[in-house]
Amino acid sequence: MATKIRVTVWNEFQHEKTNKAVRKIYPEGMHTVIAAALNAAPGIAARTATLDESEHGLTEAVLAATDVLTWWGHMAHNQVDDKIVARVHQRVLDGMGLIVLHSGHFSKIFKMLMGTGCDLKWREDGRKERLWVVDPGHPIADGLPEYFELPQTEMYGEHFDIPQPDQLVFVSWFAGGEVFRSGCCWHRSKGKVFYFRPGHETYPIFYDKTVQKVLANGVRWAAPTGVAQIIRGNHKPLEKLA
Ligand code: ZN
Repeated sequence: MATKIRVTVWNEFQHEKTNKAVRKIYPEGMHTVIAAALNAAPGIAARTATLDESEHGLTEAVLAATDVLTWWGHMAHNQVDDKIVARVHQRVLDGMGLIVLHSGHFSKIFKMLMGTGCDLKWREDGRKERLWVVDPGHPIADGLPEYFELPQTEMYGEHFDIPQPDQLVFVSWFAGGEVFRSGCCWHRSKGKVFYFRPGHETYPIFYDKTVQKVLANGVRWAAPTGVAQIIRGNHKPLEKLA
């Protein structure tokens, strides 16, 4: 029997402690809701980690036992230790999957992996978002309808300052007329990165069943694959050279 994909759900876990409205939606933090949804999906075993834990809950041992890391941050990006960011970055290059959620677009780890500014337009107006699947054969779109809607969201609009995605899975339309590349995939060395836009803290986005399905599909797509070992550097020829 195949072993389960080991996921660590990371959340800065600050808004839930300081904002009553957010705490009402996520009394134990949004990481617990995301982890519960992933644990209910076949083949996935999720645990959580948060900013205030020692080493932000991302010790060498935890990362070594993590196949896919999910990342939600917003108000405390600058409090994330550069040493931990470098550690996560190396794990991604070595093959760990990374799923960056919503305002994680401005996290140190996402900006480091992208190499661009990662800025965008935004407006917190609580209007509808419609997400269109633009790559219907992609594993992250598996079993989804051709579009789905979230009744209340924060708007993110183009231009999103990212490198051209290797694969684009979702494009969002917003009631105010803006559009946004809301499901983007990149490969970085052996690792895979998936950015998924929804997830503003004042709306119950992570309880949405379609969002939960996207996250489970994203975990399966981002899980490590490929050759066991890569050898770089000076190399002896495999054939006898004349
Ligand atoms: Zn937000």
